[in-house]
Amino acid sequence: MSHADARTHALAMDAADPLRPFRGEFLIPRHGDREQTYFVGNSLGLQPRAARAHVLEVLDKWASEAVEGHFSGDTAWMTYHGLVRESLARLVGAQPQEVVAMNTLTVNLHLMMASFYRPTAARRAILIEAGAFPSDRHAVESQIRLHGFDPATDLVEVEADEPNGTISMAAIERAIAVHGPRLALVLWPGIQYRTGQAFDLPAIARLASAQGAAIGFDLAHAVGNLPLALHDSGADFAVWCHYKYVNAGPGAVAGCFVHERHGRSAMPRLAGWWGHDPATRFRMAPEFVPAPGADGWQLSNPPVLALAPLRASLDQFDRAGGMAALRAKSEKLTGFLETLIRQRLVGTLDIVTPAETQRRGSQLSLRVAGGRERGRELFDYLRDTGILGDWREPDIIRISPAPLYNRFADVLRFVEEVEHWRGV
Ligand SMILES: *Cc1c(COP(=O)(O)O)cnc(C)c1O
Repeated sequence: MSHADARTHALAMDAADPLRPFRGEFLIPRHGDREQTYFVGNSLGLQPRAARAHVLEVLDKWASEAVEGHFSGDTAWMTYHGLVRESLARLVGAQPQEVVAMNTLTVNLHLMMASFYRPTAARRAILIEAGAFPSDRHAVESQIRLHGFDPATDLVEVEADEPNGTISMAAIERAIAVHGPRLALVLWPGIQYRTGQAFDLPAIARLASAQGAAIGFDLAHAVGNLPLALHDSGADFAVWCHYKYVNAGPGAVAGCFVHERHGRSAMPRLAGWWGHDPATRFRMAPEFVPAPGADGWQLSNPPVLALAPLRASLDQFDRAGGMAALRAKSEKLTGFLETLIRQRLVGTLDIVTPAETQRRGSQLSLRVAGGRERGRELFDYLRDTGILGDWREPDIIRISPAPLYNRFADVLRFVEEVEHWRGV
């Protein structure tokens, strides 16, 4: 594709994009007198314009009704978390009672491990990927210690075995087979945050379950990015956050999935009053009776102000036609980025993320040739021209074109600016 053809192609793709109107629903940071070219939806998604009205509605209700706000109207705070339930279930492919918006990601991970990591002397190991997100690693390591076991032997980390630092299905299969009898839990990411690699979650769930291990997913980088089918995936539980691809703002209330086969049991858990059956919660009796479904793992009455923006965001996912529509654009958008890099930036940027569409989401992790110094130089150059990706030590720039607000022209601009930097 010639440079002129690439430009024509980008403009034509943007003109024909059925999701094009959604960009206007976001507040896009400025860089000087133009809009920033924002590729960091994998870290903090942009603000939907409608978020403000939802937050103000809560503040106004508080101002005018105070404690009565818990009980009055369609947006009563008592049941406020239920307002996002149906949309959330659609987003992750679950039944409504299997999902709940609560807490934050790492908190939910601990709550899920309190129930699903039940180690015994013979079966006490947790299996994760090597190089996991630090919070996940801290969480599993501390859980192992909490039970009196030793992460040195009881934390199994599957090392990358592919040239770019990605992990083959064969390596996962091998690790689960080798350690199977001593695995209490397999915790796996939907998408690895550093490499951008996506995994075959149902296959991993089958392998873990066949060995008698519990299986949980961390979907921080997968939710709002890939179509998910949690109910059918075989997972016992899943956790994720809503401030990355789900655009619900900094510190947004996170998500949690508990498969229906566990939702009616009286599984051991760390309990709080909001997990108590709402039908009898306000009798204020001392015994804990769990609410059915994922709701039974709630602890506190929800931070309604932090939940409000999620309503605006999930409404967008619904109106966009759900993950199938977003993924269709995302594959083209990220594919365009890949094509241009392979044609024009060989020797400058090396794509770490797998090339197969089903093994990645929207993010491409790009290793800058020449090492850390050179990488920082490029990253800073791009930022100074108003193109924002994010930096991962020692030499990786992550670029995540988000189908709700990024354009093909944004992708082209990134490639042109890297060319320009290389030329000077
Ligand atoms: C973003 C992310 C987190 C962040 O955890 P919080 O509890 O939301 O601060 C944790 N784990 C993974 C894999 C992530 O991508």
